[in-house]
Amino acid sequence: MLKNDLIDQWDRDHFFHPSTHLAQHARGETPNRIVTGGKGVFIEDRDGNRLLDAFAGLYCVNVGYGRPEIAEAIAAQAKELAYYHAYVGHGTEASVTLAKMVLERAPKNMSKVYFGLGGSDANETNVKLVWYYNNILERPEKKKIVSRWRGYHGSGLVTGSLTGLKLFHDKFDLPLDRILHTEAPYFYRRPDLAMSEADFVAHCVTELETLIEREGADTIAAFIGEPVLGTGGIVPPPTGYWEAIQTVLRKHDILLIADEVVTGFGRLGTMFGSDHFGIEADIITIAKGLTSAYAPLSGSIISKKVWEVLERGTDENGPIGHGWTYSAHPIGAAAGVANLKLIDSLGLVKNAGETGAYLNSAMKDALGRHVHVGDVRGEGMLCAVEFVEDREKRTFFDPAKKVGPAVAAALLKKGIIARAMPQGDILGFAPPLCLTRAEADEIVGKAAEAVKDVLG
Ligand code: PMP
Repeated sequence: MLKNDLIDQWDRDHFFHPSTHLAQHARGETPNRIVTGGKGVFIEDRDGNRLLDAFAGLYCVNVGYGRPEIAEAIAAQAKELAYYHAYVGHGTEASVTLAKMVLERAPKNMSKVYFGLGGSDANETNVKLVWYYNNILERPEKKKIVSRWRGYHGSGLVTGSLTGLKLFHDKFDLPLDRILHTEAPYFYRRPDLAMSEADFVAHCVTELETLIEREGADTIAAFIGEPVLGTGGIVPPPTGYWEAIQTVLRKHDILLIADEVVTGFGRLGTMFGSDHFGIEADIITIAKGLTSAYAPLSGSIISKKVWEVLERGTDENGPIGHGWTYSAHPIGAAAGVANLKLIDSLGLVKNAGETGAYLNSAMKDALGRHVHVGDVRGEGMLCAVEFVEDREKRTFFDPAKKVGPAVAAALLKKGIIARAMPQGDILGFAPPLCLTRAEADEIVGKAAEAVKDVLG
């Protein structure tokens, strides 16, 4: 570990942090944290704090911290061959093996994997491939992509546009043309409380149908969605949502991109969220859990239907004009192979389902009746608590009160990291998939104390 008394000062002076209040950070008004180590579900920082990370980094360290199996696989790969590219038919044993392992786990209609670095660039790839697909099919007008409000798909130009959160658009001149948004499947915040779950699904379908009619089905190429909304508030869909949406998409020949960056590799208690909800996607986005973030790696899993058109495109036009220097980076691939083996050998998919259900039900028992808790919801190892001023009317707190961040800060003081989600007073939990029941009890017990400290 680097021991240097100037680290804090260098951090304030030189480091541009993502998703951070830049001015407050530079002025030293907000706390910083230099993280030095991690083991299991715990991290350690430079000030000697040991914290239970109930958000697994950014819901990505799925196998937990400090796994020697992955560290050793990375070291072995780096010693043998740190890098070679994947252009014009090149590859490494690690990248080819990982592609095979991903496809063995993916839904049956899938055919190939393209590897990138992170979720944003994977979705960038997906949008380009969808446009290419429709050009090869001689449908040059069919290019718009429909996303949902509150969806999160990255923060690049196209992917920040797909993301349906204001913070990621404002002042960046986003969203770009060709990107449209439709209703979020957020039953708790349905427009009319008299709506049943089935009514609300019908409402989401009508909203989508209306948008398709307005724009013309011949202009809409794809629909992108996370099986469970993540950064937008950890919101599982209402029953029947995905079936109903897929019926509309099929009718209008619109491709479906399932963004499984959070839900892929076990978080919902199934290998993919698509398995959980009966989603038959044309392209699946993966990242985070693919390597448990031990090295950067993402992927676009391409269905047979799309792949056949891509192949035809190269027969007609020559090699595909798409690729990154670091596509299928061997160190990321070696981490991925070791990580997927570990997920299997530790039974983490099953544990995510079982301990996740335990965490969710304990959270509901502890906080579900609090006067300022409107909703406790989740699926697998994802859980959220939404705070409201008035439970009956579901009114929001004044955003200036920053209730969500205040509860997260109170919980942090008790040694637990949760995430104040970026829109609304929502506290999110997404622990490593190796969480035990005792650790779940600790999260819930401390969360209840933190809510009491802030809201009484
Ligand atoms: N898609 C989803 C569903 C995500 O949650 C994220 C990141 N939180 C991304 C895409 C973007 O991934 P990255 O930050 O690795 O670019």
